[in-house]
Amino acid sequence: MKFTVLGCYGGRLPGKILTSFLIDDSILVDAGGATAALDLPALKKLRSILVSHSHLDHIADTAMIGDLIIGPDLKTVEIIGLEHTLSAVKDHLMSYTLWPDFTEIPTKEDPVYRLRQEEPRQAFQVGDYEVELVMVNHPVPCAGMVFRWDGGSFIYTADTGITDEIWEVAKNEENLKGLVTEISFPNSMKAMSEMTGHYSPCHIDAELAKIGKPDLPVYIYHFKPAFEETLLKELAEIEHENIRPLVQGETIEF
Ligand SMILES: [Zn+2]
Ligand SMILES: [Zn+2]
Repeated sequence: MKFTVLGCYGGRLPGKILTSFLIDDSILVDAGGATAALDLPALKKLRSILVSHSHLDHIADTAMIGDLIIGPDLKTVEIIGLEHTLSAVKDHLMSYTLWPDFTEIPTKEDPVYRLRQEEPRQAFQVGDYEVELVMVNHPVPCAGMVFRWDGGSFIYTADTGITDEIWEVAKNEENLKGLVTEISFPNSMKAMSEMTGHYSPCHIDAELAKIGKPDLPVYIYHFKPAFEETLLKELAEIEHENIRPLVQGETIEF
């Protein structure tokens, strides 16, 4: 699996792109800021967009991508997610008030987007991968994702505060090659993290201990740009050799 970090921030400032990851060339995982990183030919290669939850830093660019890829060579792209997330996209973002409804443009038969609702803990196929959604702890329904392929698997927790189920899944995954999870606010704002369904660096050790795999490579995303410097410093202080921040633009092979 080729995993490219298009954006790994939970807020936008110049040079800081909102959460978006590209798997191989055709699967987008969250659509915060993909259009700030991919050119038009690359956007036209997308076949599936998996969205973890309805917050804007994860879905905003479904609107922008839809607008860009429309044209004579359009191939319908599926947006995959929980019922809550898909209804946020269709009934709010693309309701013709904020943006046109790209699930019926240019035609209902061959639209820009087709919505594909999936249920937690029921595996389904996306391209070459078996994917399973696992609910995590966030103020709106939010799904972490397990990707499995022949001989390996990878987990993206999406935005979450203190949680258990996805760590249990990670613990039982036999060939887990890597895991991406988040930190959002510095340790001085621990209460804020807990109130808003996020982690501070001080939560990470105890959460990862639930997996019981000290050698597992763990990568961190979702830095709030206002606190990036402090977050990176506090992350470096965690005594866990295999944790490191994701770097915008990098590609990791799992
Ligand atoms: Zn977020
Ligand atoms: Zn969120």
